[in-house]
Amino acid sequence: MRGEFELKAKEILARQVGHRCSNPHCRRPTDGPRTDPAMEVAAGVVACIVAASPGGPRYDPTLSRDERSSVDNGIWLCQECARRADSDEQHYTVDRLRRWKCRAEGAHLADLGETYLNRGDARRAIGAFEQALAVARRIGDRGMEGNALGNLGVAHRRLGRVRQAIEAGEQALAIAREIGDRRSEGAHLGNLGLAYRHLGEVRKAIECHEWALVIAREVGDRRSEGVHLGNLGNDCYALGELSRAIDHYEQALEITREIGDRRVVGSQLGNLGSAYRDLGEMQKAAETFEQALEIARQVGDRRGEGSRLSNLGNAYFELGEAQRAVECYEGALAIAREIGDRRIEGNTLANLGLLARELGEMPRARRLFHRALRIFEDIEHPSAVRVRLWLVELGPIGIGGLLH
Ligand SMILES: [Zn+2]
Repeated sequence: MRGEFELKAKEILARQVGHRCSNPHCRRPTDGPRTDPAMEVAAGVVACIVAASPGGPRYDPTLSRDERSSVDNGIWLCQECARRADSDEQHYTVDRLRRWKCRAEGAHLADLGETYLNRGDARRAIGAFEQALAVARRIGDRGMEGNALGNLGVAHRRLGRVRQAIEAGEQALAIAREIGDRRSEGAHLGNLGLAYRHLGEVRKAIECHEWALVIAREVGDRRSEGVHLGNLGNDCYALGELSRAIDHYEQALEITREIGDRRVVGSQLGNLGSAYRDLGEMQKAAETFEQALEIARQVGDRRGEGSRLSNLGNAYFELGEAQRAVECYEGALAIAREIGDRRIEGNTLANLGLLARELGEMPRARRLFHRALRIFEDIEHPSAVRVRLWLVELGPIGIGGLLH
């Protein structure tokens, strides 16, 4: 016999578990809005953990009528799991159903946190992960606890709270090692490496990313292998070890291309191009930025397209190809204005100014530097200092030559 739950209670219970069956072995999406149309959708029902009336499954006479009809006594299941739970009370005990309910709630909170994080809302993500962590600790689910801590670390890092990120990440890592979860261990090491680099502890970052790489290879996770290689490249770049950075970037690119993740390929090509540029290999830098530009256009990444055009402009400038540099800078400028990226806009105006100065067009250089300076002052960007210096070097308006 089924209890008479209010419609509101049904809504609450379904929402608590993200409109999915609470049986951890089922987790089928139930009626309600969802994102993946390929998923089979079943009707969801509220089952009573303790039967509402005598004779029903798991009836407990010590509970009051109110307790039996409260939301706490309900669990959201698909129809099939509800039927099984009510037909075999020896197997589907009160304890088992209560554990399912908590686990499903924790899993939903973790999903919710990830959704917030992907949307760039790290604050709300932290709220959801902290609730998931509380659920995990209440039911003693170490795996869920470790994942919640790992995700908390990521969210803290996004907010720039690096010490908190490291603290949560180290706890998550310890749990993954304790329960022998190699995949999570690798993921936590990868995130810890990012936090250590953020803190400027690059050697420690390299140590974490190297371990993460070993684990990714051991478990055969190609995607993570590519990500960790890319991060190792960034660590070496941060240390100024450019040849090592390039070596890692190239290995990462090979894997990312194989997987076909074009967005990541584009950003890795951008990093590789920067390493070639810093190494003074301008021709290679230009070729790499061209490839990155093409991908940014293909995937419709306007910000990436603007950055790559700006990078390419610099490479052509260094190669002495003024006309191509101007074309790239002008393209970057148009995109920066379109998407409202003031930093790229300021950089590009300043670089166009430098190019004009190089070509001896001093009045034009001055106008461009002034426009760049206004933007850098607006957004309080440190490049304002350099542009002011260049303006002083150009001398007073009307003379145009360098002052000595
Ligand atoms: Zn089910």
